Amino acid sequence: MSDNVQNYIGGKWIQAQSGETFPTYNPATEEILTVAANSNAQDVDAAVKAAKAAYKNWRLTPAPRRGEILFKVAQLLTERKDQIARLMTQEMGKILAETRGDVQEAIDMAYFMGGEGRRLLGYTAPVEMPNKFGMAMRDSVGVIGLITPWNFPVAVPSWKILPALIAGNTIVFKPSEDTPATSAAFVKVFEDAGLPAGVLNLVTGAGVAGAALANHPDVRVISFTGSTDTGLKVYAQAASLGKKVTLEMGGKNAIIVMDDANLDLAVEAITWSAFGTTGQRCTATSRLIVQSGIKSKLIEALVAKSKTLKVGDGLDDATNVGPLVNAKGRDKVEKYVDIGKQEGAKLLVGGQRADNGKGYFYAPTLFSDVSRTMRIAREEIFGPVLSAIEVANLDEAVEVNNESAYGLSSSIFTENVNAAFRAIRDLTTGIVYINHGTTGAEIQFPFGGTRGTGNGMREAGSAGLDSFTEWKSVYVDYSGRLQRAQIDTETILKET
Ligand code: ADP
Repeated sequence: MSDNVQNYIGGKWIQAQSGETFPTYNPATEEILTVAANSNAQDVDAAVKAAKAAYKNWRLTPAPRRGEILFKVAQLLTERKDQIARLMTQEMGKILAETRGDVQEAIDMAYFMGGEGRRLLGYTAPVEMPNKFGMAMRDSVGVIGLITPWNFPVAVPSWKILPALIAGNTIVFKPSEDTPATSAAFVKVFEDAGLPAGVLNLVTGAGVAGAALANHPDVRVISFTGSTDTGLKVYAQAASLGKKVTLEMGGKNAIIVMDDANLDLAVEAITWSAFGTTGQRCTATSRLIVQSGIKSKLIEALVAKSKTLKVGDGLDDATNVGPLVNAKGRDKVEKYVDIGKQEGAKLLVGGQRADNGKGYFYAPTLFSDVSRTMRIAREEIFGPVLSAIEVANLDEAVEVNNESAYGLSSSIFTENVNAAFRAIRDLTTGIVYINHGTTGAEIQFPFGGTRGTGNGMREAGSAGLDSFTEWKSVYVDYSGRLQRAQIDTETILKET
């Protein structure tokens, strides 16, 4: 069992004010992993006060100096990568190769955003009047509230914490109740890198703490990643107080496989995109849109490949697919597999638990003969379940992809360059892959989705700064006389 997890408020590790705690469990063993502070509105308020106090100096700290702290964060994360990855595997289940990758994303993001400390680019442009100068600059916003999920417990918070910090904001971070220990280990890195007290505050707990953050009048921005139901609640709460909100919610990502695709490549990519992280990625492939001519060969190869996957404890190097995060996640998968069967889809492989009486293991599952209207083709399952839908041609494939209520990512496998470029033009998701699974994002490009996946905001890349900055337009008049705005330029020039 790891040490008890406490809140980190104003530079101090402390219990929840109520003294309450909650346990978290290793999903591979169902044993208690840790006990964490169960925070409520009072703890959130204390954290917001600390963040508000720290904002006064942090916003004035030169951005290149802030960047140096982020570089130090990158170095410490590199040193602690294995240690944090092991803790993450024990806390939420995914295999070590994936938890190391999770930490690596935060390292990459720390270097990228550290570099932003020497850019944070604004612009100047010529202005109408003589002896006047204009520029637009990015400004900090204030106290930022972050609400994050358990599936990427370091990477996803890093997409929010690092841009928010480099832009000069201070933070209250409310991670998932399933991953408080990993979150605390991540926050400890910032403390050890020399981040001043109060700039980043951690409040562990469940929805009560998250809702208190979304409702707090002194929090100007909420950045949320999680389920659609919760995201829409947070959006409504925060919007009623005029806050800026960034949402990243569900997905129903598809891979399209055309008759001319490279079959071996497609099989590998589909397998890891559908079953990697036990299907619990926001970008996990859960729909396979397959052209008729290649369908039976592809399905046969996928069934054979799925049977070779070893389901087990993520700490074991031989494991390919870890457990689901908790009993609720496993039950949801079971529910959807039942729905798929009742709807008349054909279960080809999996469709059952893969535990030995302990742990939330579920076998990689493939349905074929899935129609576009079935619930397993439309609703997010968040588990290792793939639904194959047959189509006649590219137009139909694009139509099926785009009719989803979600719009995070999509992919096409084809050797035809014309089809690839038509797909780039026509697929209406925030991320499009060509001959690549739907997983794996580079932190220098915007991440986010269309339709029900989000609200138009993006994370990562320079676009990721938009959530955490305000534009400030500045006009400097150095004529030494009154130059009246909003009058005709000809008149001004005559007066000059
Ligand atoms: P999941 O069900 O997969 O855990 P959620 O969307 O419920 O996903 O959780 C995402 C994050 O939202 C977590 O940090 C969770 O504690 C938080 N959360 C849950 N309910 C609320 C709420 N009503 N208001 C704000 N945050 C919430």
